[in-house]
Amino acid sequence: MASDTESPPPKLELVFIPFLASGHMIPMVDMARLFASHGVAVTIITTTHNSLIFKNAIDRDIKSGKPIKLHVLPFPFAEVGLPEGLEKMNSVTSQGQKQKLYQATMLLKKPIQQMLLDHIPDCIVSDMFYPWTVDFAAELGIPRIVFQGSSYFALCAQYSMRHYAPCENVTSDMELFVVPGLPDRVELTRLQVPDHDRTKNELTAILDVIREAELRSFGVLMNSFYELEPSYVNHFRNVIGIKTWNIGPVSLCLSTNDKYERGHNSVVDPHECLSWLDSMKPNSVLYVSFGSQHKFPPPQLYEIATALEASNHPFIWVIHNEETIDGGDEAWLPNGFKSRVNGMIIRGWAPQVLILEHVAIGGFMTHCGWNSILESVTAGVPLIAWPLYAEQFYNEKLVTQVAKIGVGVGAEKWLNLLEDDGKVVVKKKKIEKAVIRLMDGGDEAKEIRERTKELGRKAMKVVEVGGSSYNDLISLIGELVLLRESRIN
Ligand code: UDP
Repeated sequence: MASDTESPPPKLELVFIPFLASGHMIPMVDMARLFASHGVAVTIITTTHNSLIFKNAIDRDIKSGKPIKLHVLPFPFAEVGLPEGLEKMNSVTSQGQKQKLYQATMLLKKPIQQMLLDHIPDCIVSDMFYPWTVDFAAELGIPRIVFQGSSYFALCAQYSMRHYAPCENVTSDMELFVVPGLPDRVELTRLQVPDHDRTKNELTAILDVIREAELRSFGVLMNSFYELEPSYVNHFRNVIGIKTWNIGPVSLCLSTNDKYERGHNSVVDPHECLSWLDSMKPNSVLYVSFGSQHKFPPPQLYEIATALEASNHPFIWVIHNEETIDGGDEAWLPNGFKSRVNGMIIRGWAPQVLILEHVAIGGFMTHCGWNSILESVTAGVPLIAWPLYAEQFYNEKLVTQVAKIGVGVGAEKWLNLLEDDGKVVVKKKKIEKAVIRLMDGGDEAKEIRERTKELGRKAMKVVEVGGSSYNDLISLIGELVLLRESRIN
């Protein structure tokens, strides 16, 4: 029988290893913090400059007694020939830099392994881009869980494309084909399919290694929730056969302070932004942002500007092009644009979750990055889907054809980030039409808005005690505790 003086059992210890890109680090750090709020001892491994992004939030957690810490490694700039401070994928400006950064992440393998050997945790939660962690975890005798930063829908579509190779049976790039084996009828064209899913290339080989490591992992941790894509959660678990836990939307665990500085310090005063929104009618403002990495060329920015003006709805437009910030070069804006429109342009990092949660926001024109979609759904904000690269065209189909929580802008071609960046991909007329379709309040728009709001209400419930994501988190912690006990015994 346990005596009163017996010390409590040691905390379950998890090490999180996020990939060095905002779209991966942001949800993984949120996840780590979520585990810590349930009493799990958590260490997040990151590099010097990246650690600064999360330091304040982690310090707040530590102050409030949560068992969480950062383990900071120096980034190997000199070894790969990158300028000091360039430590994440969002900051690269060429394919050469992208490769060097990837190479640098591989060089982190040794110090990470050493850190894990010095103190073996109960489980490694690794980004998918570190497939080596599966063998290393096996050597240490501990489970490896893989973090997948996309939707179930995209994972199922990718699996289908690779398994059935439907692109080989179409005769033209623009011919619609049905993605085989999915729970719903979903149509794509060959042009919308990522290069590496269309034909085998270098990335296909990397993804094969990632998939193989995923199959040998203890399971997959997802920032999603069952009610958002139930058929695809079931398909992934039961047909593709991979064990998963949904613990999202992880952005729901953030405090207001967290939201001000999540992922980066915001370039606008959040209070100024929110008080401008306070002066707008509910559901009247369109939020336009294309994630943490993409920079449209000036002619495409011009098309967006003219479409926003013509559609005549208030907007917040986030633009990450640095050259337009310091140089003050706004040649891409039509003459007198700023004085005619009722809009706010944020040139740099925006407090996205805070903005989306404001009652004045009525639509989100997005590149369909998974975090952005999920954050929008969580806030009950319908989408204008403008997919660009990565798995975004698959996500677009979830938005427009399956969940029916948005309209498409009419993007036709999957882009290679940093290679296809100079082109206009969608013209003013199409952009304007999509904005009017969602924001003008017709019957279709009302139905889409109501569906999205309903999902937003469900999102709030799933993270509460007894909700589906809450239950998955508790059951995963329970499984890991049992595994640790059987290892110790
Ligand atoms: N984000 C933000 N402010 C910005 C741009 C992006 O807060 O100005 C956040 C956004 O809320 C999301 C993440 O960065 O959590 C972007 O992830 P997503 O999957 O949408 O796209 P990616 O940047 O990975 O392409």
